[in-house]
Amino acid sequence: MKFNLKDRFTSQLPADPILENSRRQVSNACFSYVTPKQTANPQLLHVSDDMLQTLGLTKKDSATKEFLNVFTGNSVMVDTKPYAMCYGGHQFGNWAGQLGDGRAINLAEVEHNNKIWALQLKGAGETPYSRTADGLAVLRSSVREYLCSEAMYHLGVPTTRALSLALTGDQVLRDMLYNGNAAYEKGAVVSRVAPSFLRFGSFQLLAAREDTATLKTLVDYTIKNHFSHLGDPSKETYIAFFKEVAERTLEMIVHWQRVGFVHGVMNTDNMSILGLTIDYGPYGWLEDYDVDWTPNTTDAENRRYRYSNQPNVGLWNLFQLANALFPLVNEAAPLEAILDDYKLGYDKASLKMMRSKIGLYTEFDSDFKLIQELEANLQLVETDMTIFYRTLANFNNKAPEEALKLLEDAYYNPDALTNAVKSKWNKWFTAYANRLELEHTAPEKRKQQMNLVNPKYVLRNYMSQLAIDAAENGDYTLINELYTILKQPYNEQQNHNKWFAKRPEWARHKVGCSMLSCSS
Ligand code: AMP
Ligand code: MG
Repeated sequence: MKFNLKDRFTSQLPADPILENSRRQVSNACFSYVTPKQTANPQLLHVSDDMLQTLGLTKKDSATKEFLNVFTGNSVMVDTKPYAMCYGGHQFGNWAGQLGDGRAINLAEVEHNNKIWALQLKGAGETPYSRTADGLAVLRSSVREYLCSEAMYHLGVPTTRALSLALTGDQVLRDMLYNGNAAYEKGAVVSRVAPSFLRFGSFQLLAAREDTATLKTLVDYTIKNHFSHLGDPSKETYIAFFKEVAERTLEMIVHWQRVGFVHGVMNTDNMSILGLTIDYGPYGWLEDYDVDWTPNTTDAENRRYRYSNQPNVGLWNLFQLANALFPLVNEAAPLEAILDDYKLGYDKASLKMMRSKIGLYTEFDSDFKLIQELEANLQLVETDMTIFYRTLANFNNKAPEEALKLLEDAYYNPDALTNAVKSKWNKWFTAYANRLELEHTAPEKRKQQMNLVNPKYVLRNYMSQLAIDAAENGDYTLINELYTILKQPYNEQQNHNKWFAKRPEWARHKVGCSMLSCSS
């Protein structure tokens, strides 16, 4: 295993001078050096062949003892110095002060094919930012992060990636439901990969501490290394930087809405400055189209991070980032203008995305109403989002009255389709058929195009749970099966049709399937 090592982050940004791994406030620095924890009996469970290739590694490399040891934190690569990043954040709307990589440790940056990647372990032991927790991760949340980040990538959603999933051989104590029933679970480590793991909170913490010098160093660093097309740092460049972060964040959230992904914890420490989906915790996938749904039990009361609120939270988070960048811009108007653009831009991008989901490629003003009515209908009775849109590609606009039959599989309880509901749907299908008459796309072509934006396979909540249950019992085949299917989410893959199915009833209220806590 040979990497072309880089050290942009650690060589260009101020380090915490204290080397002792004790929990503390770290000021005037962007990171602390820290060594991953040795584990009892590391065992690789899966490696992403796609990510291996992206990093210039081979399958043979991943079978070495060195790979196992490096990506479980048991050995440190020569000429590298692992580090944890310092950041803060707003959690559920409240400023939380310093958070930082409490259970993540960056190993190094590596270059392959002119791209530089940061390699990071999640669950490799405590750091100065671990606060009251142990720095470890358990198998269930590691399986979830590993599978979902790769699935999101193949869905075309901007995301951090995952390279490997391993057991540590250690036991980790967790109170999964925060109800006083703590139990030991298998410890695990995921190695994650991204061009950068910087978050909104990385900038916020420096601004909150009024450390404008380090803030400027970090912003200049970010522009130089990740937004170099914006030019040399200046007030104008800082504004352009914020504008691009806003645009990327918007684009990411439009993708989430398209595929039915609910992040679950959109705290500002979980917002990537590169607009990548980051920190897969109690996320979930919409099964029945309930726009108020959030998988996160910690947020059950206010549902701040529910599906329908994700675009607004994106804006709220960008507002916090604007505040953090303000000391470098010293003028509110240009930042406010960008936030205003987000609102208009989101509506526009969302409409375009929704048009593509229903196969409309020309634009009529009436489309907005048609889409609104569709979204309202989808909420009349429990309707599976993924199955509905995927099957809609087979809609025959010459026979809209047959559509309800066609879409039968999308309804959780066909008996709930009362005459009133049916009549609303039939009305919509007729309007849709009329609208399609105005399109010039042949039905076969429309189907093809719709199938490129409406996935057939997503990582349904119960699918991860089945993979987790099997893995807890030492069977890792389902992890591989799901990983493989989710590499081609838009392809038919007829032999995997069993995963193109509604959530089974047993999963409706099962922990891990319909509800998750932050305990990971
Ligand atoms: P999250 O909500 O997962 O993004 O985590 C919020 C903060 O808590 C971050 O600073 C994490 O690093 C930290 N954290 C979460 N779980 C642990 C853990 N098991 N050990 C140490 N720190 C943790
Ligand atoms: Mg986090």
